[in-house]
Amino acid sequence: MAPSEGQPSESKDDRIIRVAAYRRQDQYVNMERLANFVNQPPGPILRKIVNVPAAITSSPLSSGPVGPLGILHCFPPEIILEICKHMDVSSFLKFRQACRSSRMTTSDWHEFQGVVQNATDCFISVVRTGIATWITFPQLYRAMCLVYCERCLTIGNFIYLPTATRCCKRCLLIDPEFRIVTLNSFARAARLNVRNVSRAVNGFQCVKGDYRQLNLINFAEATKALGTAQNLDTGRGFGGLNQNPYIRLMAASPLPLFDHKTRTTVEAFSCKGCGRQFSSAVASYHGRTALHIVFPVLFREASREHLRSDFLCHFRSCAPAIQLWEASKEGSLSIAQLETEYITSGGRRI
Ligand SMILES: [Zn+2]
Ligand SMILES: [Zn+2]
Repeated sequence: MAPSEGQPSESKDDRIIRVAAYRRQDQYVNMERLANFVNQPPGPILRKIVNVPAAITSSPLSSGPVGPLGILHCFPPEIILEICKHMDVSSFLKFRQACRSSRMTTSDWHEFQGVVQNATDCFISVVRTGIATWITFPQLYRAMCLVYCERCLTIGNFIYLPTATRCCKRCLLIDPEFRIVTLNSFARAARLNVRNVSRAVNGFQCVKGDYRQLNLINFAEATKALGTAQNLDTGRGFGGLNQNPYIRLMAASPLPLFDHKTRTTVEAFSCKGCGRQFSSAVASYHGRTALHIVFPVLFREASREHLRSDFLCHFRSCAPAIQLWEASKEGSLSIAQLETEYITSGGRRI
């Protein structure tokens, strides 16, 4: 059905969303180094290379004998789950594989199931990088239930894995708290033994192409733990990685927006009215400076994402969006001719 032909049961809010909102598709542009994605030429689709084996998440068959849980046998299930909350992801997965009884006791744990079923990439990335040896499911679940970037409070579509922090693409690439360096470079610059640094700081492994098995650490955490200089020059590191902000992607993963009340993922929307304003400003500009610097306010509004209720609020005070709504005769006519390339490409092109 064409977008202009509303369903008979479509509410007014649904029609407003259909006419005046669009979904961003630029989150993963230049993000090929994210931990669970394979490097490939730029394109709209990034292929997942690893999925969660069903055996990890499924419950055991209800028939068959159930043995005791060893020394944990005397504890009620609630206490066992309480213990699981303090286990790192790796230990918990081993515990689940110990016997049928441990799987039955933990299969309904909502923080575990919530993460492995809704944030598959995050879970796989945690396991592949080795971060699973210190991050817990409650930490991952907490980040999943947040919607906004914990650093700047805009919608955050990613998780920075070493600290399980929800973040936006911009903060992930520039915030000093998320800086990643190679373990060897840090130890060399700090004149410390590599073994001493790795004992003091949680390290993890890069899982990408030529950099596989490379040991990485969070610079801020290492600085704090070892009391080293905050401006320590770690140099170029392996293949120039220490000077490349994209090294941080190896410690990050997409994280869906999740409503913990309904236990479903939710979507974010951007405003077509604001998108059109930005497009028309850009159309009359012929300079070479980056557009987000020349038109900072228009760019910020055009690229801003809103949850559904926030978008409906924004719509009521956004004159260009209301104009689109009126042009569509409240959703009964197509406004495709008014949508710029910036809108139709989901912010990927201008
Ligand atoms: Zn942010
Ligand atoms: Zn708007």
